[in-house]
Amino acid sequence: MLREIKGQPQVIDLLQKAIDQERIAQAYLFHGSDGVGKFMTALYFGMALNCLSVNKYRPCGVCSSCHKFLSFEHPDFLYVFPTVNLKLSPDGEIRDNDALKQYEAYIKNKINTPWQDYYFSGSTEIRKESISLLIKRLELSIHEAKYRVVIIENADMMNQQTANAFLKTLEEPPENTLIILITESLPRVLPTIQSRCQPVYFKPLAQGLIQDLLFERFQVDTSIAKSAARISGGNLKTAIRIAQDTDNSSRNKAFDLISMAAKAQDFEYLDMVSKARDSSDAIKDLIAYLGIIANDLCVIQYAAEQITNLDKADFLAELTHAKIADRIPDYLLLLDDFSRKLAGNVNPTLILLNLFIATKNLLAP
Ligand SMILES: [Zn+2]
Repeated sequence: MLREIKGQPQVIDLLQKAIDQERIAQAYLFHGSDGVGKFMTALYFGMALNCLSVNKYRPCGVCSSCHKFLSFEHPDFLYVFPTVNLKLSPDGEIRDNDALKQYEAYIKNKINTPWQDYYFSGSTEIRKESISLLIKRLELSIHEAKYRVVIIENADMMNQQTANAFLKTLEEPPENTLIILITESLPRVLPTIQSRCQPVYFKPLAQGLIQDLLFERFQVDTSIAKSAARISGGNLKTAIRIAQDTDNSSRNKAFDLISMAAKAQDFEYLDMVSKARDSSDAIKDLIAYLGIIANDLCVIQYAAEQITNLDKADFLAELTHAKIADRIPDYLLLLDDFSRKLAGNVNPTLILLNLFIATKNLLAP
């Protein structure tokens, strides 16, 4: 199953070697952008170390240990991720009913459709109480596993105080415990945490690979798969959403935004935003399209036939001018920042307004 992880051969080789030689680092820090396989790799790595099969290719995915991991029911699999306030009891019971429902929905989504993101309603972080509970559980003995597996997702969403509380555990982890921290943004992880982990970099997936995965595993038509792969920026999650957005709504919205920004139609835009009830995913896709369109605005100046949005060539040719190319790097950085803020639950309307201002600045004469 570890070999089923596509597009990360160096990572898989590294981990396979660790498994074969049973030389496991105390803690790993998996970093790289979203939708490139970090979580699945972490899960399969933990499963491989515990798989009961005698087969060389572990994890088998069918033994009782693998089963428990895949259904997130293994007593020695501890999974921590950013949540709303769960009002945890001292023994780890979630006392807030609404938070419990959301927590369960998050896990269910992770098991059944891990390529989709689940969003809590409310601001999320890795809370001190979650880490305190984890530390407490790590003090207990292992139930049945050979290696206890701890996965901490979006480890950068831990504030300094919480991170400090976890440092001692990272420094002297209990025996036979595999700790994997995951982040999309290495610079946001405190240096004291970074220095105690072995970093493992996951690169963006190649366009051709995303295209093949969409075609083979999601039965997406080849031409749609091709353009979705191109727009995705190496992120399989984005590619799947774009491929499944059959009426092109995110792309149309991106062109609407560009057009309104170019004509400085502030009022019309505000009106559109006030009526929109876009999901965070829809805004993420809008941002992905804006990045591609910005790129087209630059490319069209010297190689018009190489743009992605060929059907919009006339529109783009009319908008573009010499200053845009210089402004694009900053614009792309802003887009990245907006995407991250969405994940951290910043108000979507605020992000839509900022997108408009940034786009107006990009296009300004
Ligand atoms: Zn197994």
